[in-house]
Amino acid sequence: MPTEEEIRDVLAGRLPKRGCPACGGTAWDIQPDMFMSSLYSPDLRKIDTGRGAPMVAAVCTNCGFFLNYGAIRLGLVDPDARDE
Ligand SMILES: [Zn+2]
Repeated sequence: MPTEEEIRDVLAGRLPKRGCPACGGTAWDIQPDMFMSSLYSPDLRKIDTGRGAPMVAAVCTNCGFFLNYGAIRLGLVDPDARDE
């Protein structure tokens, strides 16, 4: 699990330089936690709680638009690590 400082360091250089895609705002609040996306399973016909993608996010302080970034792609989570 990445620390709040690691999340802030990784996202600080990746925020949109042209502003929020929804409102054009330029102030972002980096969320200190990691989120998990949900995957719908056609076989189960419901959300598969055992699968998903870890994500970190920044939120536009003007309109609340969320920017989600894949934590594996950013090197914050080891894709080979498994919870046992
Ligand atoms: Zn916005």
